[in-house]
Amino acid sequence: METIRWTSTSKNTKTGSIPTAWIGEDKKACIKSCKDSKCPLLNKRYGGKNGQINTKTKLRPCYAHNGQVAFAFASIIRASKNPSRYSIKHAFSKALRSARMVRLSAIGNAGSLSTEQGDEIMKEAKANNLGVLGYIAGFSIYPYWRDKLMASTYTLKMADVAIKRGWRPSTVLPEDHEGETFETPAGNIGIQCPAIYHKTVNCNQCGLCVRKWDPVKQIKRLKNMGIISKRTYRTIKHHKQAKNLIIGFITHQ
Ligand code: SF4
Ligand code: SF4
Repeated sequence: METIRWTSTSKNTKTGSIPTAWIGEDKKACIKSCKDSKCPLLNKRYGGKNGQINTKTKLRPCYAHNGQVAFAFASIIRASKNPSRYSIKHAFSKALRSARMVRLSAIGNAGSLSTEQGDEIMKEAKANNLGVLGYIAGFSIYPYWRDKLMASTYTLKMADVAIKRGWRPSTVLPEDHEGETFETPAGNIGIQCPAIYHKTVNCNQCGLCVRKWDPVKQIKRLKNMGIISKRTYRTIKHHKQAKNLIIGFITHQ
């Protein structure tokens, strides 16, 4: 069984301070989980494609295995002689009262977890009234997560394929993309991650990437908070594919 450790809070300003998962017994196992998923963002030095999606598209390689996230992971591994310190029950019960969700994961791919581990995460999150925020690379390999996590996709066409297979995807928008919403070739609708244009918004406030939550309800909440325009709310609400709302990011190099 894959090792998963949980911290109860996070210093990540993008997500907000929420319980966060770290996947893999050690760095090697963590990288293997990414490699097994065929994540194209995995760094070349770990056997990945370094962000090369296809002949036309090159994205930034994953930053998690280098720098701050990797350092934090290494110190968690060093400190985990006492396994209960990083258990799911401990982390979820110690979550801040402001936490609305947990993040799966800061590093590593959830596809390497067993279905029993997945069931436990979903059960504990529900019991603690927390949503589960996260993306999975290799959506076609890991159908178990279809209704539990977002699918990572890297082009609009790939997002269409994911939706056809029952996923809700995140995707990468063309570098010159403008506007809050967008449509795919197959007529699906998406919205740019609000944190891109509202620097004070974090995932814990936003909630659009919690797969179990209805995106239209979250959009309504964001409209009431003044984060999303009424026009955008109406465009999404009345769209026939609103329930599959795609989240768009711009991450090129
Ligand atoms: S941590 Fe996520 S984005 Fe980074 S290489 Fe692994 S699966 Fe890909
Ligand atoms: S859309 Fe919302 S939940 Fe998703 S990454 Fe952006 S801020 Fe976080």
